[in-house]
Amino acid sequence: MKQFQFVRPSTQQSVLDVINKPGTKIIAGGTNLVDLMKRGVTAPDKLVDINHLPLKSITATKTGLHIGTLALNSTVSEDKTVVAKQPLLSMALKAGASPQLRNMATVGGNMMQRTRCTYFYDTTMPCNKREPGSGCGAMEGYNRMHAIFGASDKCIAVHPSDMCVALAALDATVIVAGKKGERRIPFTEFHRLPGEHPELDNNLATGELITGVDIPDNNFAKHSYYLKVRDRQSYAFALVSVAAALEIENGTIKNARLAMGGVAHKPWRLTDAEKALIGKPANEESFKHAAAIAMQGAKAHEYNAFKLKLAPATITEALKHASGLA
Ligand code: SF4
Repeated sequence: MKQFQFVRPSTQQSVLDVINKPGTKIIAGGTNLVDLMKRGVTAPDKLVDINHLPLKSITATKTGLHIGTLALNSTVSEDKTVVAKQPLLSMALKAGASPQLRNMATVGGNMMQRTRCTYFYDTTMPCNKREPGSGCGAMEGYNRMHAIFGASDKCIAVHPSDMCVALAALDATVIVAGKKGERRIPFTEFHRLPGEHPELDNNLATGELITGVDIPDNNFAKHSYYLKVRDRQSYAFALVSVAAALEIENGTIKNARLAMGGVAHKPWRLTDAEKALIGKPANEESFKHAAAIAMQGAKAHEYNAFKLKLAPATITEALKHASGLA
């Protein structure tokens, strides 16, 4: 492993002073970054440990919930206010990784984790994300875990997070600090599709630091469900996951939020399917109809065609659980 500098600034300003240099990476829990460094996928000159910044709090605000970037995944998932007000987020976090990893991983780190495409981690294989212009090993390779939505001819990787799928569904906002002050990014616009630049996972600019996320209050607590389908019940990434949240009044859907994981380079929000649910009875027929709408534009590759059937079935099932039908 290449030698690197390690610094641990104690103030946000001192972090901002050093992170705008090329070759500098922020570390918090390190649950993905350390793996990337050990495998030679990334080789920073300097690591900036931000664990001493006061960004761990989970606070109820006038309009919702603020969660600091350094709040641990395990802490957030068990937090009483999160469980009461945003159970979808708690469920998604508990579906992710393993208890040991959740005890180390932070909210900001979860957002910044990189794809688990095996070709990305194998430095003997071509990968446009790791080395722009080198090609894509997955395109003609074993692409069972890969995208069915929003891919490009440069990259078909998926974003691995569960937490981010829930935050996309819940209309969260990412709060970012930079030299020019604070910036707020809608969660659904934080991560990117691969397009011509799969090396870019998100829209965070060089020198910016995620300080937290805001989640607005909603009426979904009674009818939320996160359903993750994976190869084994623990410590596995999603083949397909669905975050479903409904507001139901007298059996009719008043409001809906839906997002999918394991299917695109970013958490895949299903706004057309949400619209199709509103005003409909909360029954299996409505859910299947919404799932069919959600699948419009899906495109499979050689080994992941099963996702074309698995995804609508998972959407339907998640909605059944959220509504109380299952
Ligand atoms: Fe790299 Fe993306 Fe292709 Fe995977 S799918 S090999 S991450 S370019």
